[in-house]
Amino acid sequence: MITTATTCPYCGVGCGVLVQHDRQMPIAVSGDRAHPANFGRLCVKGSALHETLGEHGRVLHPRVDGVETRWDDAIDAVVTRLRATIERHGAESVAGYLSGQLLTEDYYVANKLFKGFIGTPHLDTNSRLCMASAVAGHKRAFGADAVPCCYEDLEQARLLVIVGSNLAWNHPVLFQRVSEAKRRDPALKVVVIDPRMTETCEIADLFLGLRTGGDIRLFNGLLAYLSREDGLNRDFIRTHTEGFEEALAEAQRAPDTVAEIAKACGLAPTSVETFYRWFAREPRVVTLFSQGTNQSDRGTDRVNAIINCHLAGGRIGYPGAGPFSITGQPNAMGGREVGGLANQLAAHMDYHTPGALERVTRFWATPALTPRLPSAPGHKAVALIEALERGEIQALWVMATNPAVSLPDSQRVRRALERCPLVIVSEAMESADTLAYADIVLPASSWAEKDGTVTNSERRISRQRGMLPPPGEARHDWQALCEVAAGLGYGDAFDYQAPWQIFDEHARLSGFENDDTHGRRLFDISALAGLDAAGYDALAPIQWPVNARAPHGTSRLFEDARFATPNHRARLVPIVDEADTAADRDFILNTGRIRDQWHTMTRTARSTRLNRHRAEPFVELHPDDAAALKIRQDALVRLDNPRGSFLGRARLMPGQRRGELFVPIHWNHHFTTAGLASALTERRCDPISGQPASKSARVRIMAL
Ligand code: SF4
Repeated sequence: MITTATTCPYCGVGCGVLVQHDRQMPIAVSGDRAHPANFGRLCVKGSALHETLGEHGRVLHPRVDGVETRWDDAIDAVVTRLRATIERHGAESVAGYLSGQLLTEDYYVANKLFKGFIGTPHLDTNSRLCMASAVAGHKRAFGADAVPCCYEDLEQARLLVIVGSNLAWNHPVLFQRVSEAKRRDPALKVVVIDPRMTETCEIADLFLGLRTGGDIRLFNGLLAYLSREDGLNRDFIRTHTEGFEEALAEAQRAPDTVAEIAKACGLAPTSVETFYRWFAREPRVVTLFSQGTNQSDRGTDRVNAIINCHLAGGRIGYPGAGPFSITGQPNAMGGREVGGLANQLAAHMDYHTPGALERVTRFWATPALTPRLPSAPGHKAVALIEALERGEIQALWVMATNPAVSLPDSQRVRRALERCPLVIVSEAMESADTLAYADIVLPASSWAEKDGTVTNSERRISRQRGMLPPPGEARHDWQALCEVAAGLGYGDAFDYQAPWQIFDEHARLSGFENDDTHGRRLFDISALAGLDAAGYDALAPIQWPVNARAPHGTSRLFEDARFATPNHRARLVPIVDEADTAADRDFILNTGRIRDQWHTMTRTARSTRLNRHRAEPFVELHPDDAAALKIRQDALVRLDNPRGSFLGRARLMPGQRRGELFVPIHWNHHFTTAGLASALTERRCDPISGQPASKSARVRIMAL
């Protein structure tokens, strides 16, 4: 029996996993006690990893126009059709749609091929649905997309504010860590702010079940309260920030007494008063936020409303303090590192970062090849689908994600995929709906087979180590990209034989001509350059930056209160509080994950144990709403809006707000005929981040 130390491929906690296996199959998994993300803990999904493997249901061979073919012929078809598309319609008619499930090495090669050599900016990722608003909020406040905190801060805080996150189900090991910290120190207070009373409330000292969309009023109100009640850190504001007066003036523009704010948010005044008082008095405050904050058409503003309060109180840059964005996916952060978002260029540099285009061009050039980088950002995920509809995108390569289920307004996404002349899908699982729209299918390796790195929510880079050969003709995504690059004539720049070589180049680019302007110092991992195969294999988990100043990594950012803005001051952003325009007769539809499934279930549904948790799609609603509509527990109900419909079993939940519903995102058409949650969600996006508002569609509900 062999034991391999690797990383869980599901959520952004990034737990270390020990896998016991023979040459054929993993036999058992356990938490890695040496891994600083989880110290041996695993949740139910992580502990069932070995139950989700096996050749059955895998994509084993390539297909071209529905006909199984050899790998080399499929690559030839990709090359020929991409070349024809570029010749006829130009490089910008080609797009890629990637995934936070990819390893950093896959991501790096994809970004280099699409932006660097094909020359199209239209490369985005499903991370757009996950944390794009946090990225944009970080950039506005700190001058760079930098997560200040580490997991230890969750345990060292004396007040933990959890906003828009069912941590207990979606980041279970972090929830375990916080629960244990609270058991050790009952003085640690936990506030949960969420429209739903979720399992996370088990550890809450205070629950604020605010109405959907009330976040900005609540945090603007907190800023005004801090000013009124001596909760500001005026030295920190004066020395290390800018924009405080403007942000405060905007916060005070709306009625800002506790009673008025509580009314606007649908809360009891005493609850709001308690939260504000605790925040004002406690220096060690962490505000953890996730999709409930990000997945909104005001997502970036919500993020900045939270960060404003931390900056005004000086609650950042020391143990147990700071705003903390928790990512949904295992490598959403790694994708940001290489530049996998359409508004990024490479290595955390944006298109508008001075000198970035020239710098990246110099770095990627070979004696025979000069990159041809686009000069402006490309389409973000939802806009990319709209470009498909308009016929501007003629070829789309989808990797490791299932947009026919996961993107909002999924019927429209499917129609857009249907009309795209060339859809290439790199996929491991036959149960992915998007395969039905593929002209060319490339079988991809999966978790147990892949070697590379991922970066979790606390900026910790960990090795994922493969232990089995890919089944059938499946290959690694970076290999497929390199073969296509070679076919297009760029082989000289894509001559990688192993992931460690890609990682080395990624690490070198992070430090290349890095003069510490525009926050580049924060993303510098150049101290990890130069690892050979053995050094890469032995790489221990480490948090960026990892450079000459911090060769052993960096737990916490901004301890010197020197931010990445040109004047090194953090920015408070005035956040306008707009009235909600909800139509009374419709319900607000909240969507989210459940404990034991992952994304569109293509992997987790392979475990009988995981399927037992929730066996079928459901709709949660308040018992009073159910009574008014004559809906009984477990009755079949239908949700409708102009975009689509969804069937599920009614679950009557007193913790659900009246007028609001919750449905899980997971079931795809392979597992149900009841309709997709994404058929109802809308493509309305945050104007800054491009993140879709996935938690506030309007729907009608009726019993069947
Ligand atoms: Fe995997 Fe997340 Fe569970 Fe850890 S908490 S085992 S990373 S799903």
